[in-house]
Amino acid sequence: MKTAPRGIRIIIALVGRRNAGKSSLINALTGQETAIVSDVPGTTTDPVAKPYELIPVGPVTFYDTAGLDDTGELGEKRMRATRKILWRADMAIMVTEQSGLTPADVAMIDQIRALAIPCVVVFNKMDRGAIELDSIQFCTDRGIDWIGVSAMNGSGVDELKHLVIQMAPPELREDPVLAGDLFTEGDTVVLVTPIDLAAPKGRLILPQVQVIREILDGDAVAVVVKERELEAALRNLSVPPALVITDSQVVLKVAGDTPDSVPLTTFSILFARHKGDLAILANGAQAIDRLHDGDRVLMAEACSHHVQADDIGRVKIPRWITQYSGRDLQFDVSTGYDFPDNLGDYKLVIHCGSCMLNRMEMIRRIRECQRRNVPITNYGVGISKVQGVLRRVLAPFGLEVDPGRV
Ligand code: SF4
Repeated sequence: MKTAPRGIRIIIALVGRRNAGKSSLINALTGQETAIVSDVPGTTTDPVAKPYELIPVGPVTFYDTAGLDDTGELGEKRMRATRKILWRADMAIMVTEQSGLTPADVAMIDQIRALAIPCVVVFNKMDRGAIELDSIQFCTDRGIDWIGVSAMNGSGVDELKHLVIQMAPPELREDPVLAGDLFTEGDTVVLVTPIDLAAPKGRLILPQVQVIREILDGDAVAVVVKERELEAALRNLSVPPALVITDSQVVLKVAGDTPDSVPLTTFSILFARHKGDLAILANGAQAIDRLHDGDRVLMAEACSHHVQADDIGRVKIPRWITQYSGRDLQFDVSTGYDFPDNLGDYKLVIHCGSCMLNRMEMIRRIRECQRRNVPITNYGVGISKVQGVLRRVLAPFGLEVDPGRV
């Protein structure tokens, strides 16, 4: 059987005290014996991942985490692993017993709510008796979803699945347009695509092709030029274009050659909106104005790729930001699926264009930065910021950013 790639699976973390029945509940939810179940508290060490098809939400991964009341050095390691899952989680199932919430449970619930993770409190072991009333009151007073189940005899498990389905964050399922809402049928859209040494031989890159396809689907006219031909192309048009879309690296020249009356944006900005959250990434770019000497900036690459001599993420952007800010900064590079554990040490994350990530993965990475209080922007938005054209390239979306040098 084919399984969905890990990036498009909704991450559901099961958290709670040791021996509250998390492992048994995962087995009851998935109908399979996956997690290690034992009466000895603290059997689960590293989070155990269980992929499951949760109809109609789609593919999900349940994470069976270590107990949050774990003690000792090993316990601290286990809890760190659990926190790491929480930073990435789309939802949380907080498992406790029908006998009532303990102070550790309440602290956990507070932590989940502070991270803005949709959460349901599950009172397990209903086969032993009714739920303690004060705990129900606690959840009701705070508007927290709760349910009683017995992982042992299966009662309440289907109802819990329904609750989880209702909680699924809708933004993960959206598939927004690229530029289709910025022009109408019959309009002309001019695309500026530099053909330099970094351009692949004999073809355009996928983001450019996708935008052209969307323009054709919208019955509009796509005019594709290099930056040197832009001025002539604009002069030759009898009606000004509805939009100019440029590669970020030449945005300064293109902004100079495009009349102020013509809306202008960049491919990166279109994809920042399509794949992530443009408002957050735009505000994240404003953190460049708040950098100080010695601050650390993380250049986050979602995949390993061939690094060129004048690499955009490792050479050009660090150089431009250093020149713009006049600060002595430390740039580190992370590559791959996970952010480094010390993410909180960074004053800013500048993410790559995320061409190899889907929307769900990118939103998750943005949320992780938010949960750890680290501003995040991406290459294209950051470049427009340091080139002084951020306000202009955001204008087509009616977006404003926090005060700063834009
Ligand atoms: S922009 Fe694409 S190729 Fe480059 S690091 Fe990010 S995901 Fe990989």
